[in-house]
This record gives sequence, structure tokens and C-alpha cells, in this order.
Amino acid sequence: MTVLERRPAALGASIANFGLLWPIGQPPGRMHRLALESRALWVEVLRESGISNRQTGSLHVATREDEEQVGREFAALAPDLGYSCSWLDRATALECSPALRSDAVVGALWSDAEIMVDPREVLRRLPEFLARRCNIAFEWNCPVLSIEHPCIRTTRGTWQAEQIIVCNGSDFDLLYPERFAQSGLVCCKLQMLRTPPQPPGWNLGPALAGGLTFRFYSSFGVCPSLPALRSRIAAETPEYDRFGIHTMVSQNSAGELTLGDSHEYGSPAVPFNSEEIDALILRHLRSFVRIPDFSVAQRWYGVYAKHPQQPYVRLQPEPGVEVITGLSGAGMTLSFGVAQETFTSGPKESS
Ligand SMILES: Cc1cc2nc3c(=O)[nH]c(=O)nc-3n(C[C@H](O)[C@H](O)[C@H](O)COP(=O)(O)OP(=O)(O)OC[C@H]3O[C@@H](n4cnc5c(N)ncnc54)[C@H](O)[C@@H]3O)c2cc1C
Repeated sequence: MTVLERRPAALGASIANFGLLWPIGQPPGRMHRLALESRALWVEVLRESGISNRQTGSLHVATREDEEQVGREFAALAPDLGYSCSWLDRATALECSPALRSDAVVGALWSDAEIMVDPREVLRRLPEFLARRCNIAFEWNCPVLSIEHPCIRTTRGTWQAEQIIVCNGSDFDLLYPERFAQSGLVCCKLQMLRTPPQPPGWNLGPALAGGLTFRFYSSFGVCPSLPALRSRIAAETPEYDRFGIHTMVSQNSAGELTLGDSHEYGSPAVPFNSEEIDALILRHLRSFVRIPDFSVAQRWYGVYAKHPQQPYVRLQPEPGVEVITGLSGAGMTLSFGVAQETFTSGPKESS
């Protein structure tokens, strides 16, 4: 197997992300099962490759009664839906993470499935591991210009392949542009921040999400109180809705915290970051998180492809060629599951 990447390294959405393997965000049923299958493969790869990771689980932290209500409802429904979750009262939640503000937190939804990795380390080390372990060849600086099965024309010559899988992320211009124009896929731009390393020995504990996150992942659509929470946020803080803001925190092996994020839809994504958006993300984080060093060491944005209805998109533009993209905010979570599905079930078109 050969991977053809147009840049000197993988520099798309995958390196820009939080590094959160986040099964709790996937809706009950097929997608949640796929996320758990993907997680199992991730655990195997992480163990065998030695890539650093934190299998800490996650907390969705409530600071308001309506957030607590949604968290409690989800915890009550979770066992029947296949999630391993429970509701933690204030004192128990505070014991889980030194980052939580005791004067703000009212409780938290605990889930044991989430894992933190550092995408920058993963994207550096995973190709080395896959090359060594699975004999996969990586051709960097190798833009694919066109495909006519079985020929793949690149700037560095032509390859031939029986099965061709195109994972072009949000780059819709080069390959099959007319199919992408009709696909319904849109780009989403997300702003992100990173702190310097926190003091040695300071541990975030579980990955954190704030109460705004309940309205972000479709898994929480099963909670009867979600519409009321959405309405309160829309009326009280419309700026969070305007920029699609919810807040999460992950920690890497260097002790740095990754913070985010916002969601602005439309193609193409403009290259300018908004200071207003970063300030809103930090404002919401400060409402429930207290960390030793809240200064910002890095700011960046990432872009992913998203379909308004489908969890991801499979297209078969010609026999022997399958396009897989549009994994939106769950590509890291679902990656190995989707790969396994692809290689075991063969091509099938989703739109
Ligand atoms: C800021 C941010 C935070 C996120 N956080 C999370 C998270 O915590 N958890 C999670 O599960 N998901 C998260 N996501 C989503 C996840 O990162 C994406 O769904 C996933 O990375 C998409 O992977 P991809 O391979 O489809 O696209 P990409 O990572 O963008 O990769 C596409 C690659 O194809 C290459 N390419 C394109 N066209 C060609 C061509 N013609 N020839 C050769 N190469 C080509 C590009 O150079 C690129 O390297 C986040 C995304 C962002 C942007």
C-alpha cells in the first residue's frame, strides 16, 4: 500500500486538532459503535507504536442547573444506549480534576471512553510506525493531479493501483471538483489555542468539555432538556451561537493544554483569525476552569470538511476509486473504524 501526500508532511485538519478520541460525541447506534471500534484499534496502535496518550476519560462540566439537567438525563439513558457514563456530584467532580473551579462547578458527566493524544506527535510518528509495521510506503511532496483508474498521475510520475482511496480532506479543487461541487460538503474553520507547559506534575485529569458542548454533539439529542438549554444559551449569550463556540481542554505529554474552539461554516475558509472569537473561547473556559498558566503560547486555525446530514461522505466517482471525506469534528475519533469498514466491506456510495 502507498500513501501519496501532496505536502512534505500531513498538514491538514488532522494536525490542527485537539487530539481527542471522543466516542461520547457520537450518536447512539451505528456511529457510537464505530467510534468504539475505532477506539479499540487506536489503543492497539498506541500501545504498539509507543505514541504518548492519556486514557483518562472525559468530564462534561456543568456550571448551571440546565446543564446539570442535561448531564443527568444523559447519564440515566447512557447504559441502555451503550455509553459508559455517570453523573458526578460537585465534590466528586472537583476531585477528578485540579482544573475545575470549586466556586462554579455544580457537577459533571463522567465518561470513561475518551483518550487524549497530541496530533503533532501522532502525525510525526504514525507514518514511521505504519511503514515499519505494515510495510506502507509514504510518498511526501506528491500532489495527485488526476485519476483514471488504475492510473494515478502525480507531479512525480504515474502510479497504478487496483484499489484507489481518495482522502483529500477539505481540498475540493483538484480531484473530481464537479463531484464535490454537488456533494453538499462545506468547509468549517475552527480557532484553537495552546498554553505553555503547565508546572511539572500538574495533571489535567480527564479531558474537559464545558456545558456549551451539550448542544454541540448529536449524542445529547436524546436528552429531553436539551432544547431548553439551547434556548437559554441563544437568548443569554448569542455570541457563542454566532461563532459556534463550545469549550474543551486536552493535555499533551509536554504538559501543554490545547484549548478551543469555534465553528464558522463556508467555503473557502478565510485565513484571518478573529481576536473576538479567541477572547470568547477564553472567557467561557475561565468560567469553569482554573489552571496555573492560562497564558496563550500558540494560536492557529484548522479547516475540516462537513456534510450537513451525513456523518461522513463516501463517493464512487469511477469504478475502483472511492472518495472518503467529510468526517467533520470526529475524524480523529472515527479514523481507524472508518478505515476498517472500508477495507472489510468494500466501496459503497453515501451520496
Ligand atoms: C481544529 C480542529 C479540531 C479538531 N478536533 C478533533 C478532535 O479532537 N477529535 C476528532 O475526532 N476530530 C477532531 N477534528 C476533526 C479531524 O481533525 C478531521 O475530521 C480529520 O483530521 C480529517 O482527516 P482527513 O484525513 O479527512 O483530512 P486532512 O487531515 O485534512 O487530510 C487530507 C490530506 O490530503 C492531502 N491532499 C489533498 N488533496 C491532495 C492531492 N490532490 N494529492 C495529494 N494529497 C492531497 C492534504 O494535503 C492533507 O494532508 C478537529 C478538526 C479541526 C480542524
